[in-house]
Amino acid sequence: MTPDLSIVVPLYNEAAGLPFFHQNLSACARAVGTARAMRIEIVYVDDGSRDETANIAAGLPPLGLDVQVVALSRNFGKEAALLAGLDHARGDALLFMDGDGQHPPEMIETFVGLWKDEGYDVAYAVKADRTDEPAARRLFVKLFYRLLNFGASTSIPEDAADFRLLSPRAAAALRRLPERNRFFKGLSSWIGFRQKAVPYRPALREHGSSSWSFLRLLGLSMEGLTSFSPAPLRLAGMVGAALAGAAFLYGSWIVVERLVWGIPLPGYPSVVVGLMVIGGVQLLVIGIMGEYIARILSEIKSRPVYFVADHAVRHADAAGERTAAVELPKALP
Ligand code: UDP
Ligand code: MG
Repeated sequence: MTPDLSIVVPLYNEAAGLPFFHQNLSACARAVGTARAMRIEIVYVDDGSRDETANIAAGLPPLGLDVQVVALSRNFGKEAALLAGLDHARGDALLFMDGDGQHPPEMIETFVGLWKDEGYDVAYAVKADRTDEPAARRLFVKLFYRLLNFGASTSIPEDAADFRLLSPRAAAALRRLPERNRFFKGLSSWIGFRQKAVPYRPALREHGSSSWSFLRLLGLSMEGLTSFSPAPLRLAGMVGAALAGAAFLYGSWIVVERLVWGIPLPGYPSVVVGLMVIGGVQLLVIGIMGEYIARILSEIKSRPVYFVADHAVRHADAAGERTAAVELPKALP
């Protein structure tokens, strides 16, 4: 029997919080499944964790839901883990959420309600505020979205989390996108259909630490930008045009000064400064083009995005449901 909804959860070094997370998520998902008469499965993707995540995930009881555990051969990064989950999910509809407990599983009910009752195709969580984050990171994120949405026909909502539900037709659309450098946030907004943002306040991370260092965030942003939007190229072109325009005006001015008023040309410092500005801008633009060439190269090589080391499916059997009933009384809706 194919499930109606697959919940995809990427995991990287989440061993400490995983058993509790699984109980919590299963309880919420089961409640929704019962209320809506839906069959729900959970797909855990272990993204080459260095701790016990893979073993713990492999041993998780089904708790009344089908549970798949896909273990990747090494750490491929969150976007690759999401793609692995998408490839293994058997459900028609998809739900993505983080495995660190920051995305409250109670919201699954809201998402499913938006999909089933109000006919939305994509329901996604947006951070209600970012005041908990360092100012530098907030500024960086703002800048990133400005650039990403610069001149784009579909703008990607700022502050959207990787916590979203896609209806069967939205999920089918997402599955049809062929690119390998994926940026799920962007893609699931780009596909269109009826989209709905739901504000939320992420819970604090209870275990482990966020795996995004500044360099990693920069890397992901660059990848997201270049795989999704031509804006940096366009901006580079505009900077070039502005510089050339300024140089032309200044050049004309000098000629007029020399010929009309006979003012001698100032010495070489201004020439050196001009050279440096132009040289710098040229290198910058070449760097930006290089990023795109790297994306093209990686698409052309068409290497697999990830490798699966282990894959297990545990079906929700009667025993699983009984255990669940004993282990998890009333606590959740
Ligand atoms: N994650 C992953 N692979 C990675 C890094 C992170 O699968 O290389 C998972 C991680 O386990 C978590 C989610 O992606 O479930 C979000 O990661 P994190 O909490 O570090 O990011 P943040 O919440 O700070 O954006
Ligand atoms: Mg997190």
